[in-house]
Amino acid sequence: MVEGFRPADLQEALEFMAKHPSIPIAGGTDLMIQKARGFGLKPDFNKPLLFIGHLRELRQISVRNGNIHIGASVLLNELIKNDKIPEALKMAVRQMASPPSRNLATIGGNICNASPAGDTLPYLYAADAFLVLKSSQAERKIPVGKFITGPGKTTLKSDELLTEIIIPDKVFSANYYKKVGTRKGMSLSKASFTGLADIESEKITDIRIAFGSVAPTIVRSREIEASIIGKPVSEIKNAVPEIVKKFAPLIRPIDDARSSAEYRKQVSLRLLENFLMKLT
Ligand SMILES: Cc1cc2nc3c(=O)[nH]c(=O)nc-3n(C[C@H](O)[C@H](O)[C@H](O)COP(=O)(O)OP(=O)(O)OC[C@H]3O[C@@H](n4cnc5c(N)ncnc54)[C@H](O)[C@@H]3O)c2cc1C
Repeated sequence: MVEGFRPADLQEALEFMAKHPSIPIAGGTDLMIQKARGFGLKPDFNKPLLFIGHLRELRQISVRNGNIHIGASVLLNELIKNDKIPEALKMAVRQMASPPSRNLATIGGNICNASPAGDTLPYLYAADAFLVLKSSQAERKIPVGKFITGPGKTTLKSDELLTEIIIPDKVFSANYYKKVGTRKGMSLSKASFTGLADIESEKITDIRIAFGSVAPTIVRSREIEASIIGKPVSEIKNAVPEIVKKFAPLIRPIDDARSSAEYRKQVSLRLLENFLMKLT
């Protein structure tokens, strides 16, 4: 039998983690696949499960001091329905998995799974999201890009839970998200792209560009973004080849069962072109 503990609240969950090495499970849509051993066999969990999907403290969405706070166990379908959630994040979530899976899967699970193909990640990187990580003794807040260190790898400590995702409550004038998969639904990304921008007086005043599935972690370059900020929109069309050339060396995908590296690279750079052309 697989052992598990269902804490009454977040404090009890953190105290359990401090005493017992355990595996947090929210919706289980990643974990149950990763640990499956075949029909009729129990999944291969080497530690007790700690159920966190029901914890009230992790199910809240609120806006405070100019930031959107999203609990780690908020379901993907709840993100789509909530009017505080930015449209660019909703665009990504609507294309994840299927409606039934989105009623189990959580945003925290997507982040902690740390897949380069995780579909909430390009937006979270582009939006400068911070994560709150709590243990029974301490709390720390770090940018999402410092949390994920490689495919499936994070700086999460064994006694910590991701409790909250904090996104600056900023509305961008241009929101762009594209996912390229084998099908429209129920398929992991071959490539994904988030573009956010602000345009004032015909000039780019802010731009964020993030690529998924093309490197060990999400690709974003503040240096290249800074080189675009301040340009008149009328000059973007001519600048597109130069911007694409700057990003090209950062796009280092792999060949795998879902796609070839060459296809991923070409399509990602075309998505960048498409986003930039839409700004004009
Ligand atoms: C059929 C199918 C289709 C899918 N399609 C997509 C897709 O289109 N796009 C996509 O990005 N993903 C997809 N996924 C993957 C998965 O559904 C998502 O990554 C989902 O958001 C994971 O959330 P979860 O709550 O189920 O995570 P879980 O499986 O519960 O957990 C995932 C990992 O995160 C850890 N964890 C979870 N919550 C916390 C927390 N608060 N603190 C610390 N650690 C935590 C767990 O220990 C585990 O290691 C798909 C999966 C399936 C089965």
